[in-house]
Amino acid sequence: MDSAFFMTAGRSLGFGYQGNPLDRVSARRDDADFVGSLRARADASAILIARDMPILSRAAPRGALFPMAEVEALGGARLEILLGVDADGAPVFAAMLPDSAVELRADHSDGFMDKRVLATPGRDDLEPVDLRSIAMQGLVTPSVLAVLGQAKAIAHWHARHSFCANCGAPSRVAAAGWRRECDACKTQHFPRTDPVVIMLAVDGDRCLLGRQARFPQGMYSALAGFLEPGETVEEAVRREIGEEAGIACGEVGYVASQPWPFPASLMIGCLARATSFDISIDRDELEDARWFARDEVQAIFEKRHPGGLSAPHPMAIAHHLLRAWLDGGA
Ligand SMILES: [Zn+2]
Repeated sequence: MDSAFFMTAGRSLGFGYQGNPLDRVSARRDDADFVGSLRARADASAILIARDMPILSRAAPRGALFPMAEVEALGGARLEILLGVDADGAPVFAAMLPDSAVELRADHSDGFMDKRVLATPGRDDLEPVDLRSIAMQGLVTPSVLAVLGQAKAIAHWHARHSFCANCGAPSRVAAAGWRRECDACKTQHFPRTDPVVIMLAVDGDRCLLGRQARFPQGMYSALAGFLEPGETVEEAVRREIGEEAGIACGEVGYVASQPWPFPASLMIGCLARATSFDISIDRDELEDARWFARDEVQAIFEKRHPGGLSAPHPMAIAHHLLRAWLDGGA
């Protein structure tokens, strides 16, 4: 494969949930004295998470980091997880509040959506907001968004792994929130990250895009799918493109990756060189898939496509895979 295929690899592409600024101090998580000393620091702060949602201040700019005293003021956390320390050495924790900290309140002021609000009376200054909305509306800086993604993913894992997957006994938290241990059978459990391949099959000046029925009208995107056990990234890329669109691919090139905390994926972005060209769509997966010429993708990006087609939001790695290909990949 020519070197141009890889010219986009390793670039900082500027999409969501990447660029976490924290030093995770992962080698010291088992040192309870160290973790305790961080917890006691006056400059320690916490991301507040309840029912998988970060809690933001309503004040502008929307704050997502709170003094540790706020955790107590809201009734205490069911679990605190050390996320890391910032460039000034200030520790940042994720505080998982109990589900009871947030309640549904009927609020039909702007439609018929019930709102999630804090259960603590008088705390209308705080608001649970789902992470997708935080990202899409740009409510926090990219760095804070990355930390929120880290916090949400690890909190989601704890919320669903209270019991040992080996023997069924309750497990307990260890390593400042980065391990669970079963005292009954001595198994250690570590947080999961689920790899997903997301890729463009390319053939010279055209690339393969598809759309799922659930996509916004007119939006086309890269194909994607979960890696399976015993599979390489390259094999998963070829299998997914083959299954979903009937296209065979040869060489696969890595472009970039993106944490995707819904709930705990890692999107692995690739370009793949097509070696067959007749599309056969798996209608269970895709509503449509077809080849797009470079000019057509350019028109989509410049919002002048005659059919009104659109590309994924810049928050998503698919947007940047397309941009990278437009800018000269393959
Ligand atoms: Zn066990």
